[in-house]
Amino acid sequence: MDLNMVDKSIAVLRETFSTGKTRSLAWRKTQLRALIKLVRDNEEEIFKALHQDLGKHPVEAYRDEVGVVLKSADYSLNRVQKWMAPRKGDIPLLFFPANGEVMPEPFGVVLIFVSWNFPISLALDPLIGAISAGNTVIVKPSEIAQNCSSFLANTIPKYLDTEAIKVIEGGVDVSEQLLQQKWDKIFFTGSQRVGRIVLTAAAKHLTPVTLELGGKCPAILDAKSISSDMKVVAKRIAGGKWGPCCGQACISIDYVLVEDNYSEYLIDSLRRIIRKFYGEKPEESISLSRIVNRNNFDRLSRLMSDPLVANSIVHGGSTNEEKLFIEPTLLLNPPLDSEIMTEEIFGPLLPIITLKNIQESIGFIKSRPKPLVIYAFTQNETFKKQILTETSSGGVVFNDTMIHFICDDLPFGGVGQSGLGRYHGKYSFETFSHEKAVLHRRFFPEIEPRNKLEPSF
Ligand code: NAD
Repeated sequence: MDLNMVDKSIAVLRETFSTGKTRSLAWRKTQLRALIKLVRDNEEEIFKALHQDLGKHPVEAYRDEVGVVLKSADYSLNRVQKWMAPRKGDIPLLFFPANGEVMPEPFGVVLIFVSWNFPISLALDPLIGAISAGNTVIVKPSEIAQNCSSFLANTIPKYLDTEAIKVIEGGVDVSEQLLQQKWDKIFFTGSQRVGRIVLTAAAKHLTPVTLELGGKCPAILDAKSISSDMKVVAKRIAGGKWGPCCGQACISIDYVLVEDNYSEYLIDSLRRIIRKFYGEKPEESISLSRIVNRNNFDRLSRLMSDPLVANSIVHGGSTNEEKLFIEPTLLLNPPLDSEIMTEEIFGPLLPIITLKNIQESIGFIKSRPKPLVIYAFTQNETFKKQILTETSSGGVVFNDTMIHFICDDLPFGGVGQSGLGRYHGKYSFETFSHEKAVLHRRFFPEIEPRNKLEPSF
């Protein structure tokens, strides 16, 4: 990408925004319909690109990318008119007669950064929000998922308004160039490290920012309260760990907390499920995504190579560098100060940490950065309440994993180090809108006597 293109592209988008065309309901709906058509027409291309970049199986690709986008676009298409209408705001009687309203307005020119793990849905889902709110947009795909990046760059201009929506591809040099510009909003999905860079750059222009970051998402297993459903729990833990992108997801379970006397049962159940899902030779399974690249393969291998961590492996642990394959791996009580327990894992390794009493899980989680989501398997209502009131996280899911991500009526986002802001459904619309306060006052009852207003000549 010619770096001058960044300046030129932004100038076009600013000019388009100033014409007001992206504010109309008709434009928003046309673009959302075009986006749906883009995805429907190119389903096979999307599957191909996702397989090339991440080895994603088409079923996984449909569930986590194509399906998510279609559902989200359809949801917005059906509600955008209602969302964009001003809503009434009550005014104190003191100012009677007057009335107030809250009027959503688009920010203007927005920048969307995409991570590589869901390279299609994490580009198009925020784009749906930005379009619904009436903005012009630059999408910056992840250079690491190169085939998906090229797909977006080649296909978006064929379907969407090229004067209002552009894709700019490139690596860190392009990202840095983009961050030097003045934006009306930046929406970033990625790591905490780059999130800090984005927030620092945005501070220069006081640009509003949404940061969809990651971190370590714990799963609490209150086995005592669910012993009869342990098989279901093990299946859901496995699904939430290795299902989406082989653990390379911001909301993958990072580690499990369980009481001492249930750990063996859990490990046995997970072993059985892993065999059932991926066969005796997971390396040959077509249902398991691959590690995205050599850097991440090396990072994950390094996490396991610490001798104390290696000693804690109770299942799996094999790797194949050539195929960028790492086996679903269970670790029992790796040292809490090892990198695997201090950094986000973002891969198929699952530490199981045992506690004397499951109540200790609350203190364990509270002593660490706030997670993007806490998963808790429990039937104990008092314990549920305790988790909700004594811990802080982007979200909490009881007795399942991941499914909150596709619930349009629930806000998705982190808190503290796991993120800033939220999106999905109406929350996406709000994330890309400024809510303007409007107050209409009358002159009555303070009208001056008419003769006083007349010029005195
Ligand atoms: P990343 O931070 O490396 O990259 C994200 C984006 O930032 C990419 O578009 C990349 O091109 C750009 N970028 C990279 N280096 C940059 C720099 N120096 N300056 C400016 N921009 C730069 O993240 P990633 O490796 O693509 O994704 C993995 C991370 O994203 C994990 O931490 C994961 O938890 C998080 N994530 C969060 C969510 C969420 O919705 N909360 C979703 C997916 C991934």
